[in-house]
Amino acid sequence: MSVLDVLGERYGLRGVEVAPLGGELDQNSAVLLDDGAQVVVKVSGQDPSRIRWQHELIGLVDGALGPVRVPTLRRALDGESVVVAADRAITVQSWLDGRTLSELDGHSPELLAELGAAAARMVRALDRAPAPPGPATHHWDVLGAGEAVAEGIGSVDDPARRAEVERILSWWSRAMDRHRDSLPRSVVHQDLNDFNVLARRDPDGRHHVHAVLDFGDALLTARVGELAVAVAYAMLRSAGPLTAAADVVRGYTAEAGLTEAELAVLFPMAAARLCVNAVTWTHRRTGYGHERMRHTWPAIAALAATPPELAEATLHEAAGHVRAIDPVPATGARCAVPGLIPVPLDASLGGAGEVRLGRHLEPDARAPVRRTTTGGEPATLRLGLAISAPAPFAVNAPFDAVVESNETAVVVLRHDGPRTVWSRWTGVLSPHADGDAIAAGGLIGHADRAVRVAVFRTLEAALLATSVLVPASEAAAWARVSPDPAEFAGLPEARRPEAGWDVERVTAARSVHFARSQRSYYRRPMNLVGGRGAWLHDDAGRAYLDAINNVSHVGHANPRVVAAATTQLRTLNTNSRFVYPGIAAYSERLTATLPDGLDVVFLVCSGSEANDLAVRMARQVTGRRDMLVVDGAYHGNTSVLTGLSPNRYKGPGGTGPDPTTHEVEQPDRYRGRHGYGDPAAGPAYAQDVRRQVARLTAAGTPPAAFIAESAMGTAGSVFYPAGYLAEAFAAVQAAGGLCIADEVQVGFGRLGDVFWGFESQDVVPDIVTMGKPMGNGHPMAAVVTTREIADAFDSGMKYFNTFGGNPVSCAIGTAVLDEIEAAGLQRHAAETGRHFKDGLDALAAKHELIGDVRGHGMYLGVELVRDRDTKEPATAEALLVSELMKDEGVLVYPTGPAGSVLKLKPPLPFTTADADLFTSVLDDVLGRDW
Ligand code: PMP
Repeated sequence: MSVLDVLGERYGLRGVEVAPLGGELDQNSAVLLDDGAQVVVKVSGQDPSRIRWQHELIGLVDGALGPVRVPTLRRALDGESVVVAADRAITVQSWLDGRTLSELDGHSPELLAELGAAAARMVRALDRAPAPPGPATHHWDVLGAGEAVAEGIGSVDDPARRAEVERILSWWSRAMDRHRDSLPRSVVHQDLNDFNVLARRDPDGRHHVHAVLDFGDALLTARVGELAVAVAYAMLRSAGPLTAAADVVRGYTAEAGLTEAELAVLFPMAAARLCVNAVTWTHRRTGYGHERMRHTWPAIAALAATPPELAEATLHEAAGHVRAIDPVPATGARCAVPGLIPVPLDASLGGAGEVRLGRHLEPDARAPVRRTTTGGEPATLRLGLAISAPAPFAVNAPFDAVVESNETAVVVLRHDGPRTVWSRWTGVLSPHADGDAIAAGGLIGHADRAVRVAVFRTLEAALLATSVLVPASEAAAWARVSPDPAEFAGLPEARRPEAGWDVERVTAARSVHFARSQRSYYRRPMNLVGGRGAWLHDDAGRAYLDAINNVSHVGHANPRVVAAATTQLRTLNTNSRFVYPGIAAYSERLTATLPDGLDVVFLVCSGSEANDLAVRMARQVTGRRDMLVVDGAYHGNTSVLTGLSPNRYKGPGGTGPDPTTHEVEQPDRYRGRHGYGDPAAGPAYAQDVRRQVARLTAAGTPPAAFIAESAMGTAGSVFYPAGYLAEAFAAVQAAGGLCIADEVQVGFGRLGDVFWGFESQDVVPDIVTMGKPMGNGHPMAAVVTTREIADAFDSGMKYFNTFGGNPVSCAIGTAVLDEIEAAGLQRHAAETGRHFKDGLDALAAKHELIGDVRGHGMYLGVELVRDRDTKEPATAEALLVSELMKDEGVLVYPTGPAGSVLKLKPPLPFTTADADLFTSVLDDVLGRDW
């Protein structure tokens, strides 16, 4: 009898369309009924009495899972929920909407917590369920993983995979031997896998657990099996399996308790469940299992490389069970053994002489941040103590030791004592064989400049924990598994300058001592304590990809800049009325980057100071007062510049322009009168400059100068059409005015194809101002002009600047120019910028919210609009996108008059991989429902 016949004859339902669904034992179909409703028809080989029992469970659970639903059963005409036809048991259930967890790209911590909560509620709802009729166990019983694996392991050909499964099963057996008898038992659904849990997207853009399907594997077994299966499949799809497991456990324990025994078996049971899955489907070689294996084997490999006590510590913490741990035996002696470290030891990171110590579980800024492609949390904390020295050195054992293993440059030692510990030495070439004894002080081997030593409480952890870096969220668990080697080696405590200043205290102090007008980025700001290249990290070691800080032009904490600054600070610092080589050398270097004629340098301390001086100079030299400025521009924070910056005087709190300020139309091809398609847009926009010059001249107040950013920053990354500045400058200069190019945002090679922004417009300004990137964060700025203008500015009045051009600033400025050159950063900006922009253009094709992508090199803007026709600015959305991206570890912030443009101006070491990470996170965030 066909499915449709059964539906008609036994249920009185008319099906019009049948589509097969997957299933292990059952043949499931989705059927569309003539009344438009959809049902699932399950044809099962299971005993009808067993299915009736499963239906009883559905009845107990229905309504008991909070917002999470279970299928509704359709009764047959005779009132039964099971119909037997041709030896098969047939049931009909409502269709539930949603996507299976396996279909989602990723699982948020909230979604995983909801999964855990659903498991807990399921356990509570089934607490008093009757035992099942028929067999007391089956293949998927969490207590029978050993037999299930034994049955199929012979079909796994790959010896590496077999070894991984065997290792996990040995953890499972060990846990079972110890705890099997004390595990509470209960009826459980036992199959909260990623095909059986549906999620739905809510208007907040997040997926929530919506329904649980398939009670076919329900059993009376270990109660913790409910959670273990949910944990198993959460780990299966996660780049950070333990974090995912912890999220599920957190959700579970918010609703129900776990015993110590349950917590002890949870990880091995979950990992073993994935092994049963992989081995079974490999053994059965069915199409159904094939797709699942794509994720399962890699997940098993990852879990088999996870020290089980790390998992246990993580899950204990997630469950709120924090246990005391035995301390490692302290040596009691500072530097137990001369030779462990080749120089005096009272040094923390970056310490004495050339020897550097990197502390255990502290951010390792020097190491490249290891990122996963699926958006997993970056691993940023160093596991173990890192010691580096300028020359190869001998490494001696701090305690009596026995060699457990010695492979290429990795030595594992056992240190017997009241509490045996193991140490793992990476980077040591050792002559020893396994089993050799090394007395305290004896040679372990030799290191070529760098060694990493980590201490472990078990041999297994010492062998498995090969990671150099671990994610910040795992720090607490790692601290339990791997004690601080500094303690072990008798090193002094590390000094942490920021200790005590957590983010709450910092923000509280800011709110007391800062004015409200001094805003900070982000609703929940991160407490930044370090940075390297294009990355920043907070006090918990969490890393953030920086797409905002164009000031850190050559990278955060750039070693060349740091070395130049510290060396010069140790040597000489004074002011520019004294004569010293650095200022002369720097002035020569800087002017060499500019067109001939722009030879005279005024070194100052901020972009505002530079623009203020440029305006003053223009006024004095021309004997005029009036200024032309591009609508939307920002030029600085002084009194003069506030009245000359439309971005401020027209914005919130603005009190209008100075009487001498005259705006010209902003040449914005996205919103303005002449669009991207207009090849004559540049000269067309410049007509407004010509008009204003004529008007002012006719009024007897011709302009002193026209000040323009070479590409507009705060106005929202607005790039001028070709020919704009050439035409505008010509109009101003013909009337005797000067042209000031504000390069504060875009200079120093950021635009890629050109070193200075004005070069892309084929103009030579009379005065150039620069700042932000010039000192890589050190306050440094400049005005550069011609000898003629500089001489005309000399009215006899002295110009003095206390800090501008001091020897330290000049050393730093020189290092920045050196670094741009040595690292090829201008070309890098061009290439990376093109790649970045291509990626963003591709997103624009996908997400309606993106109205425009623009810019050059590493100065890009992504404008968000609510409607592509009306171009209504998506202000709130731009802020939300920035906040959500920050939560994902990527920093960007809105700018522009409406705060609707994401400004992208990262430190130049930003790589194409960084650009891809940015783009994928933006894609993810925009993909949430708006
Ligand atoms: N000019 C432009 C184009 C700017 O963007 C800024 C700063 N955002 C300034 C000048 C002022 O520079 P500073 O903040 O160093 O005074």
